[in-house]
Amino acid sequence: MEEIICQGCGASIQTKNEGEPGFAPKSALDKEIVICKRCFRLKHYNEVQDVSLTDDDFLKMISQIRNTNALVVQIVDIFDFSGSFINSLQRLTGNNPILLVGNKVDLLPKSTNHNKVKQWLKKSAKDEGLTVQDVLLVSAVKGRGFEGFEQAVEEYRNGRDVYIVGSTNVGKSTLINRLINRSTGVNDAITTSYFPGTTLGFIDIPLDEDSSLFDTPGVINRKQMAHYMSDEDLKVITPGKEIKPRVFQLNEGQTLYFGGLARFDFKKGGRKAFVCYFANQLNIHRTKLENADDLYQRHLGDLLNPPNPASIDLLPELESKTIKIKEEKTDVVIPGLGWVTVPEGEATVTVFSPKGVTISVRPSLI
Ligand code: GDP
Repeated sequence: MEEIICQGCGASIQTKNEGEPGFAPKSALDKEIVICKRCFRLKHYNEVQDVSLTDDDFLKMISQIRNTNALVVQIVDIFDFSGSFINSLQRLTGNNPILLVGNKVDLLPKSTNHNKVKQWLKKSAKDEGLTVQDVLLVSAVKGRGFEGFEQAVEEYRNGRDVYIVGSTNVGKSTLINRLINRSTGVNDAITTSYFPGTTLGFIDIPLDEDSSLFDTPGVINRKQMAHYMSDEDLKVITPGKEIKPRVFQLNEGQTLYFGGLARFDFKKGGRKAFVCYFANQLNIHRTKLENADDLYQRHLGDLLNPPNPASIDLLPELESKTIKIKEEKTDVVIPGLGWVTVPEGEATVTVFSPKGVTISVRPSLI
């Protein structure tokens, strides 16, 4: 098939993979002006859809931003920072200023200190080599934080274009659709316009006569827990509403299982109250450390679920990390799943997570 270019975003048209850039149904190829499904949705329904790219294509595409003068907005999922952060973003986007937006703030318990969340996001970005201008917290689903977000975008973009980047599942399309919805008057102005060599695969949402907001394809981040489970399991681990903390009084030598996806062994530190922040519907099972291995062997997929019996094979083996906690109240974070707050005072814990999903610690957010 000779190459056809989408007249909206410039992506090469293909008819095989719906989740990738340039997808159009076969029937669209007969039209005089061919546009991809993603541009079609924007043009006719004022709605964006996420498409994803493989790492190499993503890097190539995103690094086009280096040659522009624009504001870059990176969306991350507060519940899955390491699974949703884009490594090497600084290199890919050159000297352009970056705003970091933590999405899904509606899921945090009410008692969460939002400033601490912002500080943690800023520091985590810095640890990954990314310097950000500012950090904002929003809920794309509930619309929380959008006034501040829009103001910050206006201030930092200073008349320039805006590129929105994010891994898949962070809520990028929900967020952009809300932005489109809120900007009254702009609806009519939404067109998709292809300028060869400038907007390959990015879709263009005009902000005013001289500047645009560009939606970019999402990258699949392999550290995301979501890649290791079925859709059904994902429903169990994804918080649907505000998380209710669950408290467990543990003695040394006791273990908690979070479904069969992660495990928390309390090795040393007397008797302590651990506060668990996970999706309300995720089953947390307490047992003795000495029985923990055996329980896992015998009950993974039934008592310890998710995974359910049909999706056990998707789950990589669990890897452990031993953490010595000093004085401060600390969160042990299992990205994409939740976190356990360890109270003040010394403690040693060993935490297990699926290989590839990296455990981290931070000063407690609550
Ligand atoms: P994309 O792949 O980054 O475009 O992500 P989507 O916009 O498709 O969202 C991925 C999932 O996260 C969907 O199930 C959304 O409903 C959910 N989601 C997006 N934003 C929020 C939010 O602010 N709060 C909550 N609780 N869920 C969200």
